[in-house]
Amino acid sequence: MDDTLPRVVADTPLAPNITSLLQGHVQIVPWRVALAGSDQPIAGVYTYGHPHLDGAMLDRLPGVRVISNYGVGVDHIRLPDAAARNIPVGNTPGILNGATADMAMTLLLATGRRLIEGDRYARSPEFTTYDPGYLLGREIHGQTLGIVGMGRIGEQVARRARGFDMRILYHNRHRKSEVETELAAKYVELDRLLAESDYVVLCVPLTAETHGLMGAAELQRMKSTSVLINVARGPVVDTRALTEALTERWIYAAGLDVTDPEPLPRDHPLLQLDNVVIAPHLGSATEQTRQRMAEVSVDNLLRGLAGQPLVHQVVA
Ligand code: NAP
Repeated sequence: MDDTLPRVVADTPLAPNITSLLQGHVQIVPWRVALAGSDQPIAGVYTYGHPHLDGAMLDRLPGVRVISNYGVGVDHIRLPDAAARNIPVGNTPGILNGATADMAMTLLLATGRRLIEGDRYARSPEFTTYDPGYLLGREIHGQTLGIVGMGRIGEQVARRARGFDMRILYHNRHRKSEVETELAAKYVELDRLLAESDYVVLCVPLTAETHGLMGAAELQRMKSTSVLINVARGPVVDTRALTEALTERWIYAAGLDVTDPEPLPRDHPLLQLDNVVIAPHLGSATEQTRQRMAEVSVDNLLRGLAGQPLVHQVVA
């Protein structure tokens, strides 16, 4: 390893494509080594698997000139702490919209049509005869979809839902006239969206405002035939309330790409329920999208180390 290269702390092991993009540009230092202290300063931070990063940690790494995050969600980084130290934070918005929206639709289709239950049954010894009465699901085409967080990803979900002839409602803090015109999406308050939607898809960032956005009261506002999809962040939904909602059938089903905590404890009651489909945070997990995320996040890192503007800098 070339000792003259800038030292960057990262959660390791990194994916091989990231390691090869970084090769010859930086030296990667594991967190435990960086935080143990050394004479050679750390010049940058590369956050790969959502490690918590706050001011106290940054104070132990006084040479840091840039934080580059692999992904768009930066709720694990205390942005005001980085801003107070004049450290730019980079992320990878836009390039993962399509893949994450595809995952929202994958979960929506799988929950509505009970695909995972069907797959288990089709493989089991119990499946001996076709019976038109088993595993009836809920219609998807022509139903009402409520998007909470009509941002970059939310918009892509709406585009896909149009192909299923779905009626689209959305809720944001601000109205977006272009999606209302182009996608025939209707802006409504959250309560109305929850009461009218057959499928509710969460696409908001995790912030102080959205933490616990879907609690018991909100889940009770949904129809008993409706489905909740979360491709945002686990803590946007109150896990205890969701478990009760699914067990007591306040709602029909849930499709979760993210959970709180993540992963759930292996004996968590949610894992025992048939009316929930859970993915291990696969929103952007395609080979093509992850390669683009690697390129942009490494670009952000190298630009920050060189004192140049980042490709995508998070506004605190
Ligand atoms: P974005 O373009 O910033 O969109 C977020 C939307 O949420 C905006 O339209 C925003 O509109 C709305 N919003 C923010 N706070 C709100 C609140 N309190 N109430 C209602 N609406 C609110 O972000 P994005 O790129 O689509 O990404 C969204 C999030 O998805 C990320 O932050 C990340 O956590 C998550 N994500 C998950 C995966 C995965 O693997 N599952 C992958 C990528 C991203 P207003 O400002 O008008 O409220």
